[in-house]
Amino acid sequence: MTAATTRRAHEFRGTHTDNRSPEELRELVSHAGAELELAPAEHIIEWAVATFGDRFCVTSSMADAVLAHLASTVAPGIDVVFLDTGYHFAETIGTRDAVEATLPVNLLTIEPVQSVAEQDAEHGEDLYKTDPDRCCALRKVAPLTEALASYDAWATGLRRAETHNRVIAPVIGWDARKGKVKVSPLARWSDDQVERYIADNGVLVNPLVYDGYPSIGCWPCTRRVAPGDDPRSGRWAGTTKTECGIH
Ligand code: SF4
Repeated sequence: MTAATTRRAHEFRGTHTDNRSPEELRELVSHAGAELELAPAEHIIEWAVATFGDRFCVTSSMADAVLAHLASTVAPGIDVVFLDTGYHFAETIGTRDAVEATLPVNLLTIEPVQSVAEQDAEHGEDLYKTDPDRCCALRKVAPLTEALASYDAWATGLRRAETHNRVIAPVIGWDARKGKVKVSPLARWSDDQVERYIADNGVLVNPLVYDGYPSIGCWPCTRRVAPGDDPRSGRWAGTTKTECGIH
């Protein structure tokens, strides 16, 4: 267990040094992407830790702790980045606290530059209603970009089985917008594999998952879904928005 760390996004730079150039990183991706396409998730994380050292982090939305658990078994003490938008369900914050208390990870909670109250004052109340893309840009995309400035590579829990938007998610890819290597160790995992890993390893799961929320984001933009419905249909329900802009 490590001490809690919460930072506003703009305070996060400078923790790590000695980053590679974008050209070097793209070169790495072109070789490793094909080599690791069929590798087990543990091997993909091992490669990332061996290649990037402490310039590699794992991100987690705290819907479950599968990726954080897996990474902690490969590299105890690894950085796990959680974006606290200020709009999370209490259960999500509770899952974050439980992960920090029970897994050997260095949990970093990153907050937007503005609090919700400050954002309301500048952009008008409830920006998630009037301009959700802008709200996500301020509360998710910008904080993640700032946080990742300290790393060359980041791991996400993206899986191809989640939604049609993600069926081509590479195991090792180049995130051109961020200029970072994006690692998706679970990309090939099915829902059954995730459930088996959770059961076999006693992995923490956000209790909302068992209460009709198979995909969990901020409370204003997440609804319960009926059994059998598209798991992500509860996100920004009733709008054409399907992603927050991070991926
Ligand atoms: S998911 Fe909703 S509340 Fe959260 S940052 Fe995006 S628009 Fe804002």
